[in-house]
Amino acid sequence: VGQVETFEFQAEAQQLLQLMIHSVYANKDVFLRELVSNASDALDKLRLQSLIDKELDADTGDLRIELAADPAQRTLTVRDNGIGMTRDQVIELIGTIARSGTAEFVSRWQQAKQDGTAELIGKFGIGFYSSFMVADRVVMITRRAGEAEATRWESTGSGTYEISTVADAAPGTSVTLHLKPADEDDQLHDYTDPAVLRRIVKRYSDFIAWPIRMSEPDTDQPATLNSRKALWSRPAADITPDEYTEFYRHVSHDWTDPLETIHLRAEGALEFDALLFLPTRAPYDLFSRDARRGVQLYIKRVFIMDDCQALLPEYLRFVKGVVDSADLSLNVSREILQQDRQIQTIHRRLVKKVLGTLKDMLAKDPERYTGFWREFGQAVKEGLVNDPDNRAAILDVVQLASTRDPARPTTLREYAERMTPDQTEIFYLVGEQRTTLANSPHLEAFAANGVEVLLLHDPVDAMWVEMVGDYDGKPFASASRGEVDLKTPSDQAPDSGDYTELLAWLGTRLGEKVKQVRLSTRLTTSAACLVSDAFDAPPALERLYRAMGQ
Ligand code: ADP
Ligand code: MG
Repeated sequence: VGQVETFEFQAEAQQLLQLMIHSVYANKDVFLRELVSNASDALDKLRLQSLIDKELDADTGDLRIELAADPAQRTLTVRDNGIGMTRDQVIELIGTIARSGTAEFVSRWQQAKQDGTAELIGKFGIGFYSSFMVADRVVMITRRAGEAEATRWESTGSGTYEISTVADAAPGTSVTLHLKPADEDDQLHDYTDPAVLRRIVKRYSDFIAWPIRMSEPDTDQPATLNSRKALWSRPAADITPDEYTEFYRHVSHDWTDPLETIHLRAEGALEFDALLFLPTRAPYDLFSRDARRGVQLYIKRVFIMDDCQALLPEYLRFVKGVVDSADLSLNVSREILQQDRQIQTIHRRLVKKVLGTLKDMLAKDPERYTGFWREFGQAVKEGLVNDPDNRAAILDVVQLASTRDPARPTTLREYAERMTPDQTEIFYLVGEQRTTLANSPHLEAFAANGVEVLLLHDPVDAMWVEMVGDYDGKPFASASRGEVDLKTPSDQAPDSGDYTELLAWLGTRLGEKVKQVRLSTRLTTSAACLVSDAFDAPPALERLYRAMGQ
């Protein structure tokens, strides 16, 4: 054993660890699921790496996960012979919360202190640190495939961890938990008891493709605990909701239940299986550029890649799951994937399927749908700008705030059904906040005439509403533009002659700041409002252009 070095956990990592140590979860069993899930990922990566890199000196003949319990020492070891980690990777991956946008994390953290923390961790996936729910000391020894030396990591989870180099260790990773003192009354959660381990693996990790083995005291042959069936290749009728949920958690690294499960088997010219999920909650990084996306690609049951961007468009980046095709060539690379005709076909089918699922949910369970839309609607609307082919299908599932009931969003179809007999356009107002919009003087004439106006307050709204043009033949028209054709009773129309002097005076006072000062019939209680010309970019779009440096 080489020299021992001590490191400090990153601040956010320390906070998460504290939460684990003073465990907020009733259900501590899930630590095993997390360790098995990491081991499974590591085996996937090694198999893939050995396919790509023929030089790699790695034994992939018997890839497996092993559990070894020692009741006398009160330890449990989870071992895999997968890809392993280098010393630097251990520091980066285990010492920090590698994926967190730091500022975002801290602010959510403060917020979560009020709302309860379970929610927060759901968004992060609890991962490796969940070991500290059940252990007061964790030792990890890991050797990266192709490297001679291994790294030993040890921590009690309180502030610091120790790292040293080990000369001879088996390839892969072993994680040894020194379990907290046993609770005599709680035999269901004694993690040195083979029966307990067997039950937990069955419950959470049955579908893991690699064997999860455990030696039991009275037999020589290690038993395989999981049935190893790829869930997506089984008929949907045979799969329980629980099995879907556990699989979702494995692929998504999420903690919560999925909102919707989409299990698709395509037959015919191009065969593939897809098992996709819509999450219940948006990840904290939905709008950050390097957010991890959710669909894994398998070819003939062989894991090819995480985060396969070619399978779904960016605006559906929150969809999680797996696509498995027997018809793709095993040596596809990320670079050529985007051009692959078969991948393009799968992409088209999946977009249709996801949008169709949204449409069904909206029709059958509007309340649940509104929950979905609150989390992901802003992302979906990007599709109105970026995916003209599916624009109509997206317009069908869009929900927007409206003056009719600012607290309850409306669909465009519902809006169209409520249009007044004389109304030919769909009116909208773009701005930054719904409340400011709802109080805008631009709305006065519309309110007076009983005409509903959509209140568009997401940044992306300004873009799509300009590009889309119309819904079902009814053009979108901004309520803030100069000439709005509302049927105003003629007795209210002011006589501009009375105001010539006032208008001239306002014109000189405001000078360059405005193009023109004119009388309007659009106000009922406010004295004045700003409007833009019919062909000017709306203010929100102007701000967006400015933000993009144009
Ligand atoms: P996540 O699995 O969601 O990325 P974890 O906290 O579970 O988060 O793990 C953090 C990272 O540590 C993993 O992404 C992986 O890179 C690395 N890691 C954890 N366990 C193993 C393992 N058994 N073998 C190789 N790498 C591992
Ligand atoms: Mg993990």
